[in-house]
Amino acid sequence: MANNLTIFQFFHWYYSTDGNLWKHGVDKAPHLAQLGITHVWLPPAYKSGKGTDEPGYAAYDLYDLGEFDQKGTVRTRYGTKEEYHECIKAIHDNGMHVMADIVLNHKSFGDEKESVPVQPVNPENRKEYIGEPRTIEAFTKFTFPGRNKKYSEFIWDWHCFTGMDEDGNIYLILNEHTNGQWEELVEEEKGNFDFLMGKDIEFRNPYVKEELKKWAEWYIETTGIDSLRLDAVKHINHHFMNEWLDHVRGRFQKNFLAIGEYWRHDVVHLLNYIEGTGGRVQLFDVPLHFNFYNASSQGVDYDMRKIFDNTLVQAKPQLAITFVDNHDTQPLQSLESTVEYWFKPLADALILLREQGIPCVFYPSIYEAKYADRVNGEEVYVEMNGTEFIEGMLKIRKHLAYGLQRDYFDHGNTIGWTREGIDENPLSGCAVILTNSKGGEKQMEIGKRHSGRSFINLFGNHDEKAVIDENGTGKFYVNDKTVAVWIDEEALKLFT
Ligand code: CA
Repeated sequence: MANNLTIFQFFHWYYSTDGNLWKHGVDKAPHLAQLGITHVWLPPAYKSGKGTDEPGYAAYDLYDLGEFDQKGTVRTRYGTKEEYHECIKAIHDNGMHVMADIVLNHKSFGDEKESVPVQPVNPENRKEYIGEPRTIEAFTKFTFPGRNKKYSEFIWDWHCFTGMDEDGNIYLILNEHTNGQWEELVEEEKGNFDFLMGKDIEFRNPYVKEELKKWAEWYIETTGIDSLRLDAVKHINHHFMNEWLDHVRGRFQKNFLAIGEYWRHDVVHLLNYIEGTGGRVQLFDVPLHFNFYNASSQGVDYDMRKIFDNTLVQAKPQLAITFVDNHDTQPLQSLESTVEYWFKPLADALILLREQGIPCVFYPSIYEAKYADRVNGEEVYVEMNGTEFIEGMLKIRKHLAYGLQRDYFDHGNTIGWTREGIDENPLSGCAVILTNSKGGEKQMEIGKRHSGRSFINLFGNHDEKAVIDENGTGKFYVNDKTVAVWIDEEALKLFT
């Protein structure tokens, strides 16, 4: 049987700090597998500079997976090292891959202060100096006293970093590796966007490169994780990324799926990065997310025929990871651009039921998520408990969404497509129609293999049927402002 790949992001920005995510993963692994999830993306598993107070992107010690008393806690925000191992085992036992979140761009909250030679730069154009060279005191030394050199004796100091922010300024560090230059990137946003946060890691330092390769070997051998989500690749020298990935794939003789987070609205920048990395790295389709966001806020005025215009899934379908929302687009986050709720089922169909792209489904689409939102300046708690239709759509993706795709992007409000199905997946094939306006029907060809069969809309009244004619064509209906997915009525038994 063919099996579509589907990623699930098993956390969100406001997930509980109680340290129970790894246990929660053990509980939910069977459910995720049943829904057809093939890869479970877990958040950064190592000790944060802020202990349990942030989701893990302010990385402190990559070797501390909730094992050592550092930054005021042994466990991480999500649990202990043992619980992490148990979570990974449960995911593997249920036939899924574990996608680890890899934070290589920066480290945060060092252990000791050093005197560091620096020069301040313009935050909006980091190539422009806005002051004379000077020496400042900063926490650039990482000795990890709680770990006491177990697993690695490497000590990080100011020779291992390119830049940092201190006292309201962004500084380039003047050491023998930087020679007064930021690292090479594929584009020139903010002049050079090498520095994002914390202490920016210097990949031209050969000892740093060696240490990060060694760490990857240790991490993969220790945990068995088998795919990679690469944080903040926009801010990382792509030559280093290529070298590091080639090393990891070569060392384990395994073509690890590697997905980069490159946050740009314009697909041109994503394509530049794909060229710079020679196709080694898949990318999240950020432009598609913004098309969904715009479509959801413009409502009936949005031309649905353009929903895939200027997206990565259109330009490089084999390298696109499609998604509706993620932890950075949630309310209150810096990149906030949450797709409006009414549009989510339409967007879900557009990522889950088409041939192109590997979809990534966000935690609150299936499970309950509570987080703070702001209304009139007041903080209120928002609860979400799954998205309508999502479980049904995931099962259709797993069992039925295969074969030749025929597109009917022929109306500004109402679009559709069919999947013909394949022999190896019995009863496979489906017809999808969606609208941001008034409901209606569309005649679409699904293939003569279905002639004479009755189709039902899984998300409508099952009494309505569409009978496929001798030419392999049917008339498929959709209600106002929603999506309909029509499947062979006998296929319903696969879901219940
Ligand atoms: Ca950087």
